[in-house]
Amino acid sequence: MSRESLYQEVILSHNRHPQNTGVLENPDIDIFDSNPVCGDQVRLTLRLAEDKTIADIKFDAKGCALSIASSSMLTTLLKNLPLSEAKTIAIDIVDIFKGRQEISLLEGYGDLTALQGVLDFPTRIKCVLMSWELFLKID
Ligand code: ZN
Repeated sequence: MSRESLYQEVILSHNRHPQNTGVLENPDIDIFDSNPVCGDQVRLTLRLAEDKTIADIKFDAKGCALSIASSSMLTTLLKNLPLSEAKTIAIDIVDIFKGRQEISLLEGYGDLTALQGVLDFPTRIKCVLMSWELFLKID
C-alpha cells in the first residue's frame, strides 16, 4: 500500500468510525465554531477532573471528511491528558499546519500524520485546524 493510500485509509476510517462523537451532558466546557467556506461546524464539550485533566471530551460536527477526521483525532489524542499538556499539543499542531514548525514533528502525533497531504491544499488547512484552534479558545 502506498503512503498516500495508507493516509487516505486512516482519514476514511475516522469518518466511518469517528471516535468520541456526541455532546456531553452538563459539560464544564462547551464551545462551537464554524467555517463558512466549506460549511464545517464543530462543537466540543469537555468534562474536567479536579486536577484539570480532561476526564471526557466529545465532538459534534457537520462537515467535510478532513474536519471530521481531525476532530476525531483531537478527542482521541487529548482525552485523559492534563488540560495544560493538551493545549501545548494543540499549539504544536496549529504551528505545524501553519508552517511554523517542521512537518516531521507530526510523526509524534499518531494518526495526524495522515493529514499532512492537506499542506498541498492551503484552502483546506482550515478544515484540519478548526477543532484545534477552537480547543485553544479554552481559558
Ligand atoms: Zn472542510
